[in-house]
Amino acid sequence: MKKYIFITGGVVSSLGKGVASASIGNLLESAGLKINFLKLDPYLNIDPGTMNPFEHGEVFVTNDGAETDLDLGHYERFTHIKMSRKNNLTSGLMYNEVTKKERAGQYLGQTVQVIPHLTNHIQDRIFDVPGDFIICEIGGTVGDIESLPFLEAIRQVRLKLGDSNTMYIHMTSVPIISSNQEVKTKPTQHSVKELLSIGIQPDMLMCRCETPLSLEHRQKISLFTNVALDQVISVPDVDFIYKVPQVLFDQKIHERISHQLDLKPIKVDLKDWSQLIKKYDQASKEIRIGIIGKYTSYHDAYKSLHEALAHAAISHDCRLKLYSYDSESLTQDQLKSLSSLHGMVIPGGFGTRGIKGKLAAIQFAREQGIPTIGICLGMQLIVIEYFRNVLGYKHATSTEFDNDTDTPIFSLLEEWQDKSGQKKVTDDLGGTMRLGASTIKVKSDTLTFKIYQDASFEERHRHRYEFNFNYADRLEDQHLKIVGVSATESDLVEIVELDNHPWFIGCQFHPELSSTLRAPHPLFLSFMQKGLSLGGK
Ligand code: GLN
Repeated sequence: MKKYIFITGGVVSSLGKGVASASIGNLLESAGLKINFLKLDPYLNIDPGTMNPFEHGEVFVTNDGAETDLDLGHYERFTHIKMSRKNNLTSGLMYNEVTKKERAGQYLGQTVQVIPHLTNHIQDRIFDVPGDFIICEIGGTVGDIESLPFLEAIRQVRLKLGDSNTMYIHMTSVPIISSNQEVKTKPTQHSVKELLSIGIQPDMLMCRCETPLSLEHRQKISLFTNVALDQVISVPDVDFIYKVPQVLFDQKIHERISHQLDLKPIKVDLKDWSQLIKKYDQASKEIRIGIIGKYTSYHDAYKSLHEALAHAAISHDCRLKLYSYDSESLTQDQLKSLSSLHGMVIPGGFGTRGIKGKLAAIQFAREQGIPTIGICLGMQLIVIEYFRNVLGYKHATSTEFDNDTDTPIFSLLEEWQDKSGQKKVTDDLGGTMRLGASTIKVKSDTLTFKIYQDASFEERHRHRYEFNFNYADRLEDQHLKIVGVSATESDLVEIVELDNHPWFIGCQFHPELSSTLRAPHPLFLSFMQKGLSLGGK
């Protein structure tokens, strides 16, 4: 029988349920259990693919090409398992699937209703996730209208599977009032009441607070919420999210879980993980990396990138110091300050805004020898900058920025491959991208080959525009080299590198999506190694 741990959130959003779920996964996996995850998101978009990163944060892309919630990134970074489209379900997708079934006549004669049709459908998806221990996180906050079908569905799961196969963990916020430093448990009490009103009594509470909760406050919460004292867990702020598994382990949450789920005592082994945390704590140097992007004001928009840079920094015994530059308002002084960095990243993105600043930064880094990695849109701009400022194609651009250009160095595949010159018009912005993992082959006498130590490897993609291969011959005998292409379509350019620069690589794929604390991505490792050897200024 499969076991399910359901994680809900109360009081406010952004409590770190994703990190808590990933940390529980980390502990159970280290005890040898076959875990998996499911994230249920209450919004009506089919997936977060079309959502503004300012609103929703990064879109995490799985190997099988699903555009998913960024929490799936945490799940991968804290464990060894890889996510797929089975691991994320939104309300939008759920309604879409149910109404499709209705149109196909599968509910013939019945009135299709939230209960039981929608809730049954959710449960089918819950039961469909492979693995023995499924950690299922419900997005949003208890009390929201949108999440009700999900909560009703998980309530029914216990009815079907019983107490010893299901566990409800509720995460809440315990604020401290700044004027008198008073710890407030009332919001937690109310949030549990809210959960109770829909028929769910939490088995465990995870209380987010600035500092560890005292015994007295835990006792008070226990009394008012009917949750046993040893199941009231304090989750204080940590300086490094990867410390959360240890915080939970110290409070023996694995014992509580194994008791609730009627398991034989489990033996959590955090030895390897603790070594990595120790490396972070002992890091003595600092590495300064700049990100020139348009979503810099919202931390979650470049989540995986920040994490991937942190992983590589720790591996080099460094603390990461990130400098974010808003590409829409990059000043001359900021541009000059880039030379004090160990390296610079031009991240992925969409649309015309901020392009000018990114191109200026790329030109500066190319001319000044600053280690630079351009990711996806960043790679496209590396090529465009080279065409403009080295090869003299003053109007070189992508059709993403100028649809009528006479120099489309990047364009939709259909545009440059269509010999008739007819442009394919598409008004469907959802699911029209090259998505997910595919194989790349690289030339052997290149920096990229040295970094990967392999002539072929898989990376994840998320983009629409491709290098227009009709311009490939212009790069022959130039310093900017096409060194990697798709293994299946050799005119899809994947990697470019500049051979007269200390470290300057553009990749059409997203290396940040596959970096973990245990296995930092080789591209970021090499990029930082070069930066450190040059020393920054
Ligand atoms: N906007 C570019 C494209 O669609 C790059 C996408 C990205 O950076 N993820 O091709």
